[in-house]
Amino acid sequence: MRLFTASLGTETNTFSPLPTGRALFEVTYLVRGGAHGDNPDLFALPLMVFRDRARALGWDVVESLCTFAAPAGPTVQSVYEAYRDEILDDLRRAQPVDAVLLSLHGAMVAERTESCETDLVVRIREIVGPAVPIGVELDLHCHLTSDLVAQADAIVIFKEYPHIDAAERAGELFDIVAGQAEGRVKPRMAVFDCRMIGLYPTVMEPLAGFLREIRALEGRDGVLSISIAHGFPWGDVSELGTKVLVISDDTDGSELAGRLGRRLRELRDQIEPPWLPLEEALDRAMDWAAQAPAGPVVIGDIADNAGGGAPSDATFVLRRLLERGMTDAAVGCFWDPGAVRLAQEAGEGATLRLRLGGKLGPMSGPPLDVVAAVERLGTDVHQSYLGASSARMGDAVALKIEGIDVIVNTVRCQTFSPDAFTNLGVDPAARRYVVVKSMNHFRAGFDKIASTSLYATSPGSMNVDYPTIPYRNAPRPIFPLDDRATAWRD
Ligand SMILES: [Zn+2]
Repeated sequence: MRLFTASLGTETNTFSPLPTGRALFEVTYLVRGGAHGDNPDLFALPLMVFRDRARALGWDVVESLCTFAAPAGPTVQSVYEAYRDEILDDLRRAQPVDAVLLSLHGAMVAERTESCETDLVVRIREIVGPAVPIGVELDLHCHLTSDLVAQADAIVIFKEYPHIDAAERAGELFDIVAGQAEGRVKPRMAVFDCRMIGLYPTVMEPLAGFLREIRALEGRDGVLSISIAHGFPWGDVSELGTKVLVISDDTDGSELAGRLGRRLRELRDQIEPPWLPLEEALDRAMDWAAQAPAGPVVIGDIADNAGGGAPSDATFVLRRLLERGMTDAAVGCFWDPGAVRLAQEAGEGATLRLRLGGKLGPMSGPPLDVVAAVERLGTDVHQSYLGASSARMGDAVALKIEGIDVIVNTVRCQTFSPDAFTNLGVDPAARRYVVVKSMNHFRAGFDKIASTSLYATSPGSMNVDYPTIPYRNAPRPIFPLDDRATAWRD
């Protein structure tokens, strides 16, 4: 048996002003031939599982490109096509193969390709023919297109947000595809379109309980796998939305997918987090801190989450902390390579005037003019990343601004873990308030030190007031752009 694997992905925020070009893939993660080393990206983990599982069965494994770009705006068309064609060329050279396994994101949009994953899988199918199983693992923030479901044999999607289960899901996908390749199972996929958009962390009830129910259904009565494609609200594409996917062994899972999808609709209002307007979030943080809890109030600056394509240089929250005198605080991570360069030039211990953040566009707010002390400089700093590996922060600096510790860095990244601070000599656990530029992934690392966590909204790039997002391609009707009665007629 001969297995072919590859990974090509990013999460495209079609509203982001930042282009996704070759350099962003190269700086984020790019490996050829399986040379992952000891710091694999989240989307490399499935490939490592596929390889290990296949080799344990004595299979031959051909590993093609594995690359991922930090989320930003649409991918430059020629860059997407070059990476795609590299994978296709590798596949042609590897022929004949008995199975193809891909680690993709599911929300990758290029300038003229609305679903890069669908385009890639359609072309792979043309090469391998109808009989060779193609398995795809996706991030749950995917656009699950009907053509992708038609062309792939099995799609398994992360269950957890924060995404702590990429390797586990890869093992499940491998089992299904290996079973098909060996003629033991005949996977069939059924999809129910919930016709809704939203963002649903899985660390909270009732969604955590719903997932426990789903797990109990898997592996029984011919049900091979159940996934929820949450969708990615900041991708303005024609197949946007939350969907339930059931893979059954040679049976039709439509009834089950429909039943679960309708349940999920009923839970819709309870599974979207309690987003708080910024002032309300800061009021609550002060009230909470006044009770002297053990550990800081951790506030997610959700609208400026680099992990969803935001610039990560918005000043709205830091400005209000300074204005309100909430200075027993640590804030990170600001993407401002120019400010880091000036701090490096001044050196540790220096004090300098800085124009911080607010540089990438109107959604970043105006820049902040501050006097900053350079507390600590770091070179090629990393932070832990969903317990799996580490994420590059680039060169970074810990600044002290009116008592607030502010981390500024050169490689745009979401703030995942407390070591984004501690690696630069700042102990966030010792502060009253910690503000992290992250939507939800921060909870995997920061819940350990937080006395409570809040999700604060602001006018940044990741607006959670969905009806005000200027969609042009999103399917209609869909909740909450349309009311329930209209969107959920089926
Ligand atoms: Zn995701």
